[in-house]
Amino acid sequence: MSIAAILSETAHRMPDNVALIWNDEKTTYGDLWRQTRAYAGALRDRGIGPGDRVAMIVPNVPDFPRVYYAVLSLGAVVVPVHLLFKADEIEYVLRDSGAKLAVVAAPMLQEAGAAAARAGVPMVSVLLPEAMKDQVPVPRLEDEASVAVPIERYASVSPMDAATVLYTSGTTGKPKGAVGMHLGMIEQVNTNLIDTFPLQSDDVLFGGLPLFHTYGQMSVLNISFRKGAAIILLPKFDADEALALMTKHGATLFTAVPTMYIALLHAARRQSEHPQLRFAVSGGAALPVSVLEEFERTFGAEVHEGYGLTETSPTVAFNSVGVPTRPGTVGTPLWGVDVEIADAEVEDQIVLLPHGEAGEIVVRGHALFAGYLAMPDATEAAFTDGWFRTGDIGTKDDDDYITICDRKKDMIVRNGYNVYPSEVEAVLIQHPDVANIAVFGLSDETRGQEVNAAAVLEPGASVTEAELIAWAQERMAAYKYPRHIDFVAELPLGASGKVLKRELVARYSAVVA
Ligand code: ATP
Repeated sequence: MSIAAILSETAHRMPDNVALIWNDEKTTYGDLWRQTRAYAGALRDRGIGPGDRVAMIVPNVPDFPRVYYAVLSLGAVVVPVHLLFKADEIEYVLRDSGAKLAVVAAPMLQEAGAAAARAGVPMVSVLLPEAMKDQVPVPRLEDEASVAVPIERYASVSPMDAATVLYTSGTTGKPKGAVGMHLGMIEQVNTNLIDTFPLQSDDVLFGGLPLFHTYGQMSVLNISFRKGAAIILLPKFDADEALALMTKHGATLFTAVPTMYIALLHAARRQSEHPQLRFAVSGGAALPVSVLEEFERTFGAEVHEGYGLTETSPTVAFNSVGVPTRPGTVGTPLWGVDVEIADAEVEDQIVLLPHGEAGEIVVRGHALFAGYLAMPDATEAAFTDGWFRTGDIGTKDDDDYITICDRKKDMIVRNGYNVYPSEVEAVLIQHPDVANIAVFGLSDETRGQEVNAAAVLEPGASVTEAELIAWAQERMAAYKYPRHIDFVAELPLGASGKVLKRELVARYSAVVA
């Protein structure tokens, strides 16, 4: 077995279905598998085989799936690298993962070149135009593939073999390489298709979530390929462009993070033509109910929110199809995944809490990762009594619906009261002048921590900081509303589109100090 079967089997059964739409070019499954087999032949000739790790720094273009499945087809392990990483961070990933080769897209060659040279890892390029090959001294994978003998079929691996090493995006700390296994990934794709996504082979998916991240890889790429649907690839998310492309190519599914939802709604106010969506999925961060409702009104499609992590491949819970959707919750546990709420203060054992009480979400099940690469201490710390500690605080009600309060590390403790930033954000985003907002805690001598916010205002908005604070004060308990709100042009976002709270805390702590 191998997760690579997802592409080869679909190519076999539906060779003429469109797999990818990029720059108005359409690639069928038949062609994609042919190109992938050729890439795999070239990588095999470079000595890549079962268990070898291959780093790839490639944006959302057809070369991403080609390289991804070529590596997997050889029984090797894919290490997709964050596209915003600078040379030092790339070097860290290359060394930490023990990469044998780095496949790098032309725009990232300079940053990656320095890193690869220092880490002693050979590089091969994709997306490097033929005309530039004399100026850039990095071999092109395409050239090597054109003379290599393509592989016939994918290499069969054992279910528990590693397929991917995915570095957590580091919104809270140093990246850790989570090792994903073939079995867990296959199980996730199949379970998601049965229980969560009503995907059909004639669906057209929005492909703006970065594919190097588990969310894009599993909930867009692998799921679409398993079903023979098409993906509109967007190398860089721009809401106006995304909306225009989705309309032009008849997108039916929108799978995104909340910041993309907010940006798309803004674009929809500027553009009169909208796609006829069938279904929308949100995950990765809390989706305010007001945004969900406006999206449903604007696009006429139900929004289903789910919850997951890199370490859980990723879906843990989902507002599944056929089960009543409850906005504001992340739905019920995915089939085959045990989800419980444990006392977050008790670290050496799992003490389960009754329904309705807030505690740390803990997970067991088929799709859990194998551990963090070369970090036995971090792996051990992540598990207690066989349960994976998610680091998120949430509740589970009598019907098994799960509500995320916030990340344990983002929770603000003000005067002994717990404040969940996402709850405060969900209220403030409803102010007509607020385009986007992030709430975070800063150290405070008297109260332990103080509630702060950074807000992006709508163009032409006139609200003042004092007015916005007073507005918030009227709508929530006194310990929750932000005491300071800074107006900013934009919020710092990671490449997966999530707000980098760590960066805001560092920025404003420096100001206070
Ligand atoms: P870190 O690097 O700190 O582990 P990350 O953002 O890189 O964070 P991911 O695996 O990308 O890690 O994201 C998982 C996290 O995203 C979850 O632990 C949770 O905090 C958050 N998350 C995912 N889905 C939701 C959701 N629907 N509502 C609220 N938070 C969510």
